[in-house]
Amino acid sequence: MEQSRLAMSVTITILAIVLYPLLSSLPFNPVRFQWGFSRGLAPMPPEVQERAEAGDRTVLLLIYVTLLMAGALLLHGSSISADSVGLNANNWKSSIALGVFMSFFSVGIVGLMPAEELQKSLEARGSLATWCGLRVLEAFSVEFWRALCIVALIRLDFSASIAVLITVLAYQAPRLITSTSTAAGAAVFGAVTGFLFAKTGSLLAPLTMSLISGGTYIYRTRHAPSRSVTCPFCSERFYPGEVKRTGRFFTCPKCGELLEYAPPGEVFAYVWFPLCFYGVPIISYWAGYRDFTSIVVSIGAASLIFFFGIVIHKLVVPPKAQQKLSYGDSGLHLTDKTQRRNDDRET
Ligand SMILES: [Zn+2]
Repeated sequence: MEQSRLAMSVTITILAIVLYPLLSSLPFNPVRFQWGFSRGLAPMPPEVQERAEAGDRTVLLLIYVTLLMAGALLLHGSSISADSVGLNANNWKSSIALGVFMSFFSVGIVGLMPAEELQKSLEARGSLATWCGLRVLEAFSVEFWRALCIVALIRLDFSASIAVLITVLAYQAPRLITSTSTAAGAAVFGAVTGFLFAKTGSLLAPLTMSLISGGTYIYRTRHAPSRSVTCPFCSERFYPGEVKRTGRFFTCPKCGELLEYAPPGEVFAYVWFPLCFYGVPIISYWAGYRDFTSIVVSIGAASLIFFFGIVIHKLVVPPKAQQKLSYGDSGLHLTDKTQRRNDDRET
């Protein structure tokens, strides 16, 4: 009897942990799937890009709704009470206050992120109301999922620090494929919100932090001041924020070439990221700081060093524009451009 109950809690715990990374990495988006199937890795033209991004938003909605429902089913199937996953209003004032206090951390990081990076994110486009709704839903479903995993792991006799670390790994895993800096941000965010839940035993603290950070992020993707770039074709200097934009692409005001920001240096992705996120925690672990607080502090320190590195790099190296590559290889683009120039001459 005892044995089968243990087996059941182990199964539920594993299911809960894999739920989020599994849901987030399934390629549901039919527009992207169709494009990938017929055109392979060729970049999308702006109108397909816009449809794909609308698809991305629907996919996110489905992921969060499924996460919430599956989480609720697992909670129902386990012996864990709703109260112990933080669905309570105990000490609500101090929980919210702690959440507000800790969000200075994530707000600071979002504040330091360069405008060019922020404008590339999905939140920079599409309706503001949709994004606010999505982020609120995400905050509820993800924080509920995180709390469920932490409580389930602690019930299997894991320490609180290990439980938080396991959820951090599960939370950042799907992002490692797309971008190292997003994965870095996710690791820090997951560690801090997990810590908040473990500390207060209430969902209110991580929820407060999640909502404040999400709001700041959406605001910054739309209002961060951008720096000027130089057109690689006609050498015109202009502000990408002030010219015609299609999705993440912008048009040179002089020659009409469709441009996008050049990706950041490879050094950051392959050297700086592992150096900070593996180096700093390993050094502090090796130096004997092995308790829960030290692990959280070392991840926090690693992320700060990482983001300061990015900021210094961005300040020293100005943003670069490059030609949008979607038609570049096909020749269609060149025809279009000559046609456009002919039209200009005629008028
Ligand atoms: Zn130009």
